Amino acid sequence: MNGLNLPIQYLKGVGPKKASLLKKLGIQTVKDALYYLPFQYEDRRNKKNIFDIKPGEIVTVQGHIVQINELKTKTNLSIIEAIISDSTGYLKAKWFNQLYLKKILKEKQKIKIFGKAQIDWREAYIEIVNPEYEIAETLNSQNQEIVPVYRLTEGISQRQMQSIMQAAVEFGIPLIQEPLPEKLIKKLNFPHINEALKSVHFPPHDVDIKALNEKNSLFHKRIIFDELFLLQLGILMMKQNRICEEGISFKPEGKLLKKFLENLPFQLTMAQQKVIKEILQDMEKPTPMNRLLQGDVGSGKTVVALAAMLAAIECGYQAALMAPTEILAEQHYLNISSLVKGLPVNVLIFTSTYNKHANLIASGTANLIIGTHALIQQNVHFKNLGLVVIDEQHRFGVIQRAMLKKKGLNPDTLVMTATPIPRTMALTVYGDLDYSVLDELPRGRKPVLTKVIEPENKKLVYKMIEEEVKTGGQVYVVYPLIEESEVMDLKSATQGYEGLQKLFPQYRVGLLHGKMPPKQREEIMKEFRSGSIHILVATTVIEVGVDVPNATLMIITHAERFGLSQLHQLRGRVGRGPRPSKCILLPYKLTEEAKLRLKAIVNYSDGFKIAEEDMKIRGPGELFGVKQSGMPDLKVADLIKDQSLLEVARKEAEIILRESLNLSSYPKIRALLEEFWKDKTEIFMTA
Ligand code: ADP
Ligand code: MG
Repeated sequence: MNGLNLPIQYLKGVGPKKASLLKKLGIQTVKDALYYLPFQYEDRRNKKNIFDIKPGEIVTVQGHIVQINELKTKTNLSIIEAIISDSTGYLKAKWFNQLYLKKILKEKQKIKIFGKAQIDWREAYIEIVNPEYEIAETLNSQNQEIVPVYRLTEGISQRQMQSIMQAAVEFGIPLIQEPLPEKLIKKLNFPHINEALKSVHFPPHDVDIKALNEKNSLFHKRIIFDELFLLQLGILMMKQNRICEEGISFKPEGKLLKKFLENLPFQLTMAQQKVIKEILQDMEKPTPMNRLLQGDVGSGKTVVALAAMLAAIECGYQAALMAPTEILAEQHYLNISSLVKGLPVNVLIFTSTYNKHANLIASGTANLIIGTHALIQQNVHFKNLGLVVIDEQHRFGVIQRAMLKKKGLNPDTLVMTATPIPRTMALTVYGDLDYSVLDELPRGRKPVLTKVIEPENKKLVYKMIEEEVKTGGQVYVVYPLIEESEVMDLKSATQGYEGLQKLFPQYRVGLLHGKMPPKQREEIMKEFRSGSIHILVATTVIEVGVDVPNATLMIITHAERFGLSQLHQLRGRVGRGPRPSKCILLPYKLTEEAKLRLKAIVNYSDGFKIAEEDMKIRGPGELFGVKQSGMPDLKVADLIKDQSLLEVARKEAEIILRESLNLSSYPKIRALLEEFWKDKTEIFMTA
């Protein structure tokens, strides 16, 4: 066994009891300990003569103990008090409730203490309460002046942790081999890994404490770089593997697309034209396309996807569009069916409820198939699937997509999302994808006036609904539906529906939720689309993709329970026609975080800004499904803070892979890579 993987229990001074505590911190081996970095550092370099100390200063004082007293407070706490002297004066060190110090501290002993100085006014002494201390015979060998502070767990003190780390460093550092080539280290001006790891725990005296505390020191950078480098190597190798795969080269004549565009009731935006071109060029390549299309809510991604699907169909292949919900699949089905009317295309919907016609997919009679996950999960066979489009799906990470492909199909893939992806995320969770952006909305889109209204003023909302319908608009009233409380939520949606029916007997109110039979749902959507239903009460089933341009008022009840991107998606259901639109948020219980979300949605309409706010509020992991994506855990790197290092790591990973395709010339890096990606390694390792 490699010594670095020595179970921590066997390290000097640890033992089984402490080992089980350390396990709680994620430390099981010596190597884990080395990568368990301090979360801050204490600067004990501010050595002062006692005479010069001012109250309030954090200082290190070196002297000897003149006298030790044991006292009690009025509340019966014990105090150990040591009078310490250097050649310039005296001060008092006081420890509360640490009687064992009686055995450790002795008069005449040399001692170094560290802490915040204050004045004991009664006795006009400088005193330091509960200082850190080192006595002469235990002064650690390096006489550490910048002291690491670790996050602890109950049962281990800071002092113990520091000495465990000291032991880990002494034992482990000599065993560490430098994985990076010398020229790379020189180029980036990094320290060697053993120096970096040692210094990050026990920094040299001359280091910039601020950089240490911000985890920005060269030592930190080197360690973070290594992690990001392994991350990027894995992702790039996945991408490379794909490039080596054989896919379909689509070379359509273009007649079908031309006819489609002529039939289209509007002009494509410049962005749509540009992106369609990018996609068609990519599809022409003999390697499988793996492309992410990002475009804000309402930017017209469907038409772009349709253009790509028509290219595949013209070449004699089937194309499939996969949506996250049945409602959205239905909506796409209706919308797309009408857009391709008159073209030689057979559109079929296939979901867990519309599941009768698998034979038409197998025979190839249906060539444009729209569905849900049922398409991949069930035993559906395609005759010749050439293109897969995944709509509104940012929860699919690298791993899932790769697994999907490993199922045997090797079609081109287009993943569409409304959530803008910051560059760091694009380089990681989506790092193996090519990227297109629709950065322009179709003309005539109007911003949606967004307002928070307190539930006490509900009457105001009823008035707005009345006004909207009277003047020819339509209204959504949305209720949250969250799995844990599904039954209750459905009840509140149903009650809301009944209430509105009573309030507006002159209008038609509809109810839509995911538990309804699809036929009924379809009927309701049809009636809402045609305008015969005026007010649609719905659960979040309408969150994505639903498109009824005459709907101009969106009421979101319990707005505090929705995530920011959900709110943005919901609001995106209005503002799609010529009438000005409004979105009303009705919050009930506001947490601090919910307040931030509502503020963001009121202030911003741009999806990019909103995603940025979301990332600030929740952190990037949650937002982009890093967890669901199956990415390895990052121990030291932070995808937001370390963005620039990530870019560097990406670049260097590209360079090294160009030089040595499967890292065969870098066996040490390759071994680390396999350790880092663990069971996922097979995805990018061909051999
Ligand atoms: P999203 O990107 O949110 O999926 P959709 O594809 O649903 O957007 O498009 C939103 C609406 O805009 C649809 O009604 C669609 O027909 C319409 N649309 C798409 N492209 C254009 C365009 N270039 N000009 C006008 N309307 C468009
Ligand atoms: Mg859409």
